[in-house]
Amino acid sequence: MSEHHELSRRALLQAAGAAGLGSLLTGQSEASGEPSSEQGPSAKPRAAAPVLGTVSEPARQVPVVADCDVCVVGGSATGAFAAVAAARLGAKVAIIELNGFFGGVATASLVNLWHSTEDMQNQQQIIAGLSTEVFERLDRRGGLEVVKGKRTYYALNTEELKIELDALLTEAAVRPFLHTMFVAPAVADGRLTAVIIEDKTGRRAIRARQFIDATGDADVAARMGLPVYQRDQVQPPTMCVILRGLDAIRKKHPGFNVHRAIFDQQYAQALKPGYSWGHSVPGGRDETMLAGTRVHNANCADADELTAATIEGRRQVRAVCDILRENFLDGRGTPLLTLPAKLGIRETRHARCLHTLTQEELLSGHRFPDAIGNGTYPVDIHNARGGGITFRHLEKAPFYQIPYSSLVPQGAQNVLVAGRSIDADEGAFGAVRVMINCNQMGQAAGVAAWLALDSGCSVAEIDTARLRETLKKQGAAIL
Ligand SMILES: Cc1cc2nc3c(=O)[nH]c(=O)nc-3n(C[C@H](O)[C@H](O)[C@H](O)COP(=O)(O)OP(=O)(O)OC[C@H]3O[C@@H](n4cnc5c(N)ncnc54)[C@H](O)[C@@H]3O)c2cc1C
Repeated sequence: MSEHHELSRRALLQAAGAAGLGSLLTGQSEASGEPSSEQGPSAKPRAAAPVLGTVSEPARQVPVVADCDVCVVGGSATGAFAAVAAARLGAKVAIIELNGFFGGVATASLVNLWHSTEDMQNQQQIIAGLSTEVFERLDRRGGLEVVKGKRTYYALNTEELKIELDALLTEAAVRPFLHTMFVAPAVADGRLTAVIIEDKTGRRAIRARQFIDATGDADVAARMGLPVYQRDQVQPPTMCVILRGLDAIRKKHPGFNVHRAIFDQQYAQALKPGYSWGHSVPGGRDETMLAGTRVHNANCADADELTAATIEGRRQVRAVCDILRENFLDGRGTPLLTLPAKLGIRETRHARCLHTLTQEELLSGHRFPDAIGNGTYPVDIHNARGGGITFRHLEKAPFYQIPYSSLVPQGAQNVLVAGRSIDADEGAFGAVRVMINCNQMGQAAGVAAWLALDSGCSVAEIDTARLRETLKKQGAAIL
């Protein structure tokens, strides 16, 4: 019997009950319905767990523990690059990250591939800046594998990446706040003046003049009441895993293919049809990062759904391991080496920005006067409901561009978004969401925040020609 992997409310409750999570989910409405596609401040929010009453929180004075020019919220490479870019221009910068390390999906969720930096003909370098700097640094540590083929791509040792990001930020004198969650904005006259954080010490505040929301979920924009939206169908999250011994299995079982085996319905634990890929870990010995699970219908911007999806993702990883153990390892040992610290989240909220980047603009290679990044990674949409994936490739244009205006939330004075929460339609998002693209957005947001400070204007009013020039001086490929 194959497992049921659709995370409908009913299935979720059943699975939760079986897993002893009944108390966590009890009370969640089975008939929550589908979310609305546009969730601006006035749109109907998704159904959340029922509120069982309220407690009053006494008003209090929150100590300000840092006063800086730029504060970056979220510390993937996107956020780290934003912080470093602003700091290298002389800004006093702080960065807040929920995990105990930087790197976001690359490190916390084990996703170890950054894509090509060249145009479709492999003739022109279209991506540079901090991404290529990190490649050089990782290469010096043996933490990079350059995979040459029709398209060159880069496999990273993501443990080495954690340490390189620490080093980059430290060298730039950015003040790090790890193990720290952004919880609330302090807004005056529509301007963000400080972010309230919670960490081991308690509730504290960081004051700044410019802010970059690199949370991936547009947490800062959403909590400030800036317009945000979430699609009816978001790309599903995946619990990745590092497995050991797949090469050894292949030697013993010629023809073995892990990406087929995990969906093979002859096995009781087979996953529902989905999509699986993986890559060896640079520096590892017969260690493979596998991204083959999928949790459908999970809104990872909802705390309870995120918890349930995380547990469902790990359950699917165990199913994968059981297939390997029982059918290819003679029932002995375990192929499970490392689970990620966090479920790999592809999509949640987006900020509504000055420009919504469209698939049409992307695939036609539209040139933007305020372009801050370039890319070639195809439109890649993981089916929100069932198996499969949709790819749409650049056919005529050598590369596409990402405009600055898709990083500027409507109505924002001193806040930018960078990373997967930028404003893009479903197709454009499918392409720009990859890290080599998000990295460029981060570096650009850092420079733009510094420019807004330097020019004494809002983020919407900065001189984008100067933004492009400054990025170029920082080593970015500006075309
Ligand atoms: C399974 C999977 C496979 C993928 N495969 C690839 C691939 O092969 N190559 C590729 O380039 N891309 C891939 N992607 C896409 C890519 O990894 C993401 O789109 C990209 O990492 C998004 O970057 P981000 O900075 O916007 O968000 P994230 O990487 O999610 O980083 C956001 C950071 O903000 C922190 N944060 C969030 N909220 C708060 C808060 N309230 N307070 C403090 N900190 C907070 C988080 O802890 C996190 O570190 C994949 C994604 C997934 C999920």
